[in-house]
Amino acid sequence: MTEHTCHAVGCPKIILPKLFMCPEHWAKLPQPVQRLIWHHYREGQEIDKSPTVDYIAAAFVAISLVALEEKKRMPTLHLGGAMIYPPQEPGDPQSKLADTRSTALPYPD
Ligand SMILES: [Zn+2]
Repeated sequence: MTEHTCHAVGCPKIILPKLFMCPEHWAKLPQPVQRLIWHHYREGQEIDKSPTVDYIAAAFVAISLVALEEKKRMPTLHLGGAMIYPPQEPGDPQSKLADTRSTALPYPD
C-alpha cells in the first residue's frame, strides 16, 4: 500500500488516506472550500480510487488556492483521461506556468 501524502503541491507530509491535506495546508483553505471538499467526499473513495467529478473539481480549486498562495506551480487537472488544465494549445502562456509532470489529482499512485 502506498503512503498517502498531502495534496498541496510539493508537500511531502504523510497523512491518513481519508484526509485531503496536512493540518498546516488544510488551515490555509477558506472554510467554504473545506466544506466543499467534505461535501463531495464519498466514504471509501480513497480505497476504490474513484472520486466523483465534483470532488475532483473541488480538489482542484483547493490545491490551486494553496499553490497560488505559496507561489508554487499550479496543479494539473485530468478528467476522463483528458488533461483539462492547463490548456495545451501551443503558444498558450498558461502552459509555461504549469509543470506537466502530473500532480495526479486527486490520488497519486
Ligand atoms: Zn501539506
